[in-house]
Amino acid sequence: MPKESLRELYIDELRDLYNAETQLVRALPRMAKACADDELRRSIEEHLRQTSGQVSRLEQIFEQLDEKPSGKKCLGMEGLIKEGSETMREEYPEDVMDAAIIGAAQRVEHYEIAAYGTARTFAELLHETEHISLLEQTLEEEKRADQKLNQLSETINRRALEAEEMPTEKERGRQTRPKRAA
Ligand code: FE
Ligand code: ZN
Ligand code: FE
Repeated sequence: MPKESLRELYIDELRDLYNAETQLVRALPRMAKACADDELRRSIEEHLRQTSGQVSRLEQIFEQLDEKPSGKKCLGMEGLIKEGSETMREEYPEDVMDAAIIGAAQRVEHYEIAAYGTARTFAELLHETEHISLLEQTLEEEKRADQKLNQLSETINRRALEAEEMPTEKERGRQTRPKRAA
């Protein structure tokens, strides 16, 4: 039955999202710690709190479906997180590193926006009214997180451009990076 197969796909997509969000709950603190800019770090920390709420929304959906949320590994998110970690191991000056973190974080947000958009559409097709609003709340949070990163990139990218001639952490003898005041 086609409707039953779409339902299976829907649940599969939700499991993928659940795994993606739980991977993010573990990865975002490391990303926040690597930020030199206070506002960038605070937005990532705020999105970490939202992400825990997004995990709860998915758990609510699984309860309503009487299905378990586990059982899938999101390879897309795993790849995005790996790439982000790889970038954070580079010896960039701190403003350039902040620009790199924004790039990595926006990849994550766009991936989630695509996945939640798909899940929301499936929920509509399957007449899962309660799921639609839960998925939409998360989708809006992801979009706002992306917009905030866009806004922060305007100043941070400009500073990154000017940071070109500054010594890298390595050249400074691996001292702890001074934190920029807000
Ligand atoms: Fe999320
Ligand atoms: Zn995935
Ligand atoms: Fe997100």
